[in-house]
Amino acid sequence: MDMKKKQLLSGAIMVIGILVAGLGAVYFQGNEVLFAGLIIVLAGLIVQDRLFRCPHCGKHIRAGDYIPGNTCPHCSGKLGDEKK
Ligand SMILES: [Zn+2]
Repeated sequence: MDMKKKQLLSGAIMVIGILVAGLGAVYFQGNEVLFAGLIIVLAGLIVQDRLFRCPHCGKHIRAGDYIPGNTCPHCSGKLGDEKK
């Protein structure tokens, strides 16, 4: 999976979670839908944590900082040259 797909996937999960939470808050009386939305957002964060790791040292890098050609803030390894 390339970096564009990873960013798209994790972003899409969080957008869906925020939409579900928003709909739950606006249209439903109970908190179940809101809660489900928050769970989805949390899942998106976990997916992001799993996907955005340095290919050299394995430490987490924020999705916004994971730009091919940048260097890892932990080990200074070059990002974006991992195997697809
Ligand atoms: Zn690193």
